[in-house]
This record gives sequence, structure tokens and C-alpha cells, in this order.
Amino acid sequence: MKQWYMVINVATCHDCNSCFMADKDEHVDNEWPGYTAAQPRHGHRWMNVERHERGQYPRIDISFRPTPCQHCENAPCIKAGRGAVSRREDGIVMIDMEKAKGMKELLKSCPYGVIYWNEEKNVPQKCTMCAHLLDDESWLPAVPRCVHNCPTGSLKAYRMEPAEIEKMITAEGLSALRPELGTKPHVLYKNLDKFEKNFIAAGVLVDGDCFENATVTLKSGGAVLATETTNCFGDFKFDGLENGEYIVDVDAAGRKASEAVKIDNKSQSLGFITL
Ligand code: SF4
Repeated sequence: MKQWYMVINVATCHDCNSCFMADKDEHVDNEWPGYTAAQPRHGHRWMNVERHERGQYPRIDISFRPTPCQHCENAPCIKAGRGAVSRREDGIVMIDMEKAKGMKELLKSCPYGVIYWNEEKNVPQKCTMCAHLLDDESWLPAVPRCVHNCPTGSLKAYRMEPAEIEKMITAEGLSALRPELGTKPHVLYKNLDKFEKNFIAAGVLVDGDCFENATVTLKSGGAVLATETTNCFGDFKFDGLENGEYIVDVDAAGRKASEAVKIDNKSQSLGFITL
């Protein structure tokens, strides 16, 4: 059967929080009987845009990762919910507002920290993927409000067969958050490396000037991993790197330098390599 999936591109999210505001507009003060209670005005972030900074001045990048409920196929919250949380046939994970009354412990069951407590209603709540809209044939385009409202197209929603999403995962290099948990999320990410991996960057100066077109080679364990050419500012950047020890070799029209760099959960901005 066709299932709902979300695909989120970390590289094009600009932290405008339009998705967050759309979620608020849809759910604050609005009851959706059979789906979820009204969201409280404060404290809940069903669509939470998280921030991650890498590097050191002056070579820094900042990325943003919208993080809703991951609508896991193997959801720990369902196991903890004792019948109060269930997965619909279309893949959307729902908390039953009647059965889950008083179950504050459900917040701890989610490894992604996306369940929030509604003190007034005495219920746990989270993103429903706007299931009340997806079930309403008059709501077009048939996507959650956050997807509808994203000005950069960073959020997409698809209803497709599991075999189709598997093809898309391979073709587009999609990844899940914390796959080691085995939760099998229905929210998938593009360019998650910007959150989970690191870079080595620097500028090349020759006789005090930025040097364009220097050849920069990245090596590890004696093998060449990548080669780049410096841009008009003399800059280069190797991204998507795992922890490990690397050698950066620079060749600027025959003038050469070599630097050893260690990545240990932190991107490295080497400043300027001067020749
Ligand atoms: Fe449940 Fe958390 Fe997975 Fe959502 S992300 S389905 S709340 S375990």
C-alpha cells in the first residue's frame, strides 16, 4: 500500500521558519477531532528547525535541519504507548488523544525528542503530518501545511509505494536520522552530511596574494581521496569527511606545501597556507 514520506533538503533550508509558523497556524487553537487536540500557544515545536555550525572564522557554514516526528516504521513510541500510539496503513504515526491521557512518559520514549506535553489537556502531542488535511480530498495540493508553506521547496511530501521510496533513496542519496536505531523513519533527508560530517577548508596565498587555480589534493592512508582547484579567492574546501587523519597537499604553479589535519568531530578551517 502507498505510504506517506517526507523528504527534507538540509542544503536549501534557510531557517525562515515558515514551516514552523504554518504548523502553528494549523494547530494552535484548532481542535482536529480524531487526529489531535489543539496545540498550546507556547512550548511545542512540532516542526523544529535545528541549527548546526561548522568550522572556525573566517570559514564557517551554518545549516538548518527541520525536524518533525520521523513517522518511524519501528517506532519506540508505539511500543511504549500500550495501544495509545499507532501507525496508520499509510505510514503516519498517531497518538490517540483519549487513550494517551496522562501518559507523560511517552515523551521519553522518542529517541528524536519530538513528543511534547500539553499540560492543559494532559496529553502528549506531536506532528501528525497534517493527517486531517491529507484525509480531506478537498485539500489540494495534498501535502502537509509545512510543505505547502516552504518558500525554498526544501520540504517535500510523497505518497508512494515502499519500493518507490527505496529507489528514490538510492537515486537521490537520501538518509535517515540515526539509522543505527533501526527505527526506519518516513522522514528522509538530503545533504544530511552538513549536520553529520565535517570539512577541511583554507585559502592559498602566494607572495601575499590569493592564488587561483592551485591544485589541492586530499589524502588519507596514502590514498588520494579528492582533488580541488582553488577559486579566485584562493579558497578550497573538502566536505563530507569522516573522523580521521588527512594530508592536504597544495601545488601552486610548482610552489608546494603539505599539512597534516585531524578531523575529530569538528570541521577544520586552516586559515591561510602561505607559499
Ligand atoms: Fe514515535 Fe519519535 Fe518515531 Fe515520531 S520520531 S514515530 S514520536 S519514535
